[in-house]
Amino acid sequence: MQIYLDNAATTKMSKTAIAAMLPYLDVVYGNPSSLHSAGQAAAEALADARARIAACIGAAPNEIYFTSGGSEADNQAILSAAKNGARKGKKHVVSTSIEHHAVLHTLKKLQKEGFEVTLVPVGENGIVNVNDVKNALREDTCLVTVMYANNEIGTIQPVREIGALCREKGIPFHTDAVQAVGHLPVHVQADNIDALSLSAHKFHGPKGVGVLYARKGFLLSNLIEGGAQERGKRAGTENIPAIVGCAAALEEACSHMAENAKKLSALRDKLIDGLAQIPHSVLNGDREHRLPGNVNFCFEGIEGESLLLLLDDKGICASSGSACTSGSLDPSHVLLAIGRVHDIAHGSLRLSLSEENTEAEIEYTIQAVKEVVEYLRGISPVWRDLLNGKREFIIK
Ligand SMILES: *Cc1c(COP(=O)(O)O)cnc(C)c1O
Repeated sequence: MQIYLDNAATTKMSKTAIAAMLPYLDVVYGNPSSLHSAGQAAAEALADARARIAACIGAAPNEIYFTSGGSEADNQAILSAAKNGARKGKKHVVSTSIEHHAVLHTLKKLQKEGFEVTLVPVGENGIVNVNDVKNALREDTCLVTVMYANNEIGTIQPVREIGALCREKGIPFHTDAVQAVGHLPVHVQADNIDALSLSAHKFHGPKGVGVLYARKGFLLSNLIEGGAQERGKRAGTENIPAIVGCAAALEEACSHMAENAKKLSALRDKLIDGLAQIPHSVLNGDREHRLPGNVNFCFEGIEGESLLLLLDDKGICASSGSACTSGSLDPSHVLLAIGRVHDIAHGSLRLSLSEENTEAEIEYTIQAVKEVVEYLRGISPVWRDLLNGKREFIIK
């Protein structure tokens, strides 16, 4: 038995997406840049996928650029805006303290090149305040980049309001919407977004394909030079099977979004209520403004890695937070940003659900986490100190 609760790291491909891809792995293998009929069949699939993806997010087809995933889209959006800004003497970027590393590390690179970066802090609920973003803006701000929804604690950011603010000031606005697209009703027009990153493998599409949406007027510079693919902005023969799979998965996710969200949030709430019964535990991130499938807890006196290993023994695939930080001993920057101290941040557990999860799985998981937490606390010297008063509880 395996219960997969790590859908924020990646998802299982949908049957629809696999079926849509198969012909392009097999019979339709032409290069879309070729003028012959085999190439043109691939070119048609590419144009069709582009139009369908654009329609799902309220964009025009010629504002869609295919990339290798969310990370590449984040890099290209941020570096492009920085380059455009530098040309006008504007070298200041505004972002938040809870972004994905694809954004944070790109911003670090810019800092080394002489840019100034303001990371606006978030509240204890894991949501950035629009006024704080407003106060961070300067005459020389060339980009605001704020994620749509956080990958660790699931908090949904006030993107539409931040977008409106940026539009009023004439500052380009990018959002890493990798966790949101396919799960929340993201609409680039209504949400005032100039550039957006999405990734297929987060909504039951294939890995290694993503999209950079860039509104007309948001000038892109290349990360990869070569042929004239993607209107000269991203060289390399297009990954047609993956692109077709991305379109099929996104259409499917968007057409079932409301019912999926309803089912997921019911499972999520059941899981939250169950885990909240564990003494000295705390939910990370706002309870209301969170992704339908995200649960993230800290348990006092627990070491996250041991928790994950023991849950794996019970057939549960979970995460301590970001897949990118696992393997390093640093606690999550997101948990630190919402005010969790190091010891507590080390005892985190992220469970991210999909439509395929069942109520029985959630019940089993609640029981399993309770047992594992109790077991680990039973053998923990820290827990003994907490119980006999040598140490004070941080989570009451
Ligand atoms: C997964 C993820 C990414 C990276 O996307 P890839 O397609 O894996 O490169 C970026 N941002 C967020 C918020 C993510 O969850």
